[in-house]
Amino acid sequence: MAAGGTHSVRPGTGRLQPRRVPAGRSLQVMETGICESCGSTDVEVAPVHRAYVTPEAWDTEGKVEVLTEVERWCYPCRTHYPHEEAG
Ligand SMILES: [Zn+2]
Repeated sequence: MAAGGTHSVRPGTGRLQPRRVPAGRSLQVMETGICESCGSTDVEVAPVHRAYVTPEAWDTEGKVEVLTEVERWCYPCRTHYPHEEAG
């Protein structure tokens, strides 16, 4: 009677892998849709808040304005453009 042997099922082990489940089980799940930044279709998009970055200039201070509106962006846009992740 080797209860709790090494071959026993470890609950939870398989739940750590990222999964693309359409239902909102996780905040990190990606959706497939249209990127609202570049207009690409059938791409993985994630909710973000667009940020407008004003570069510092000789007469103005640099600043970042983050919009409250949520947009869905593809990965390249999230790589190239300033934003804050939503959710
Ligand atoms: Zn895009």
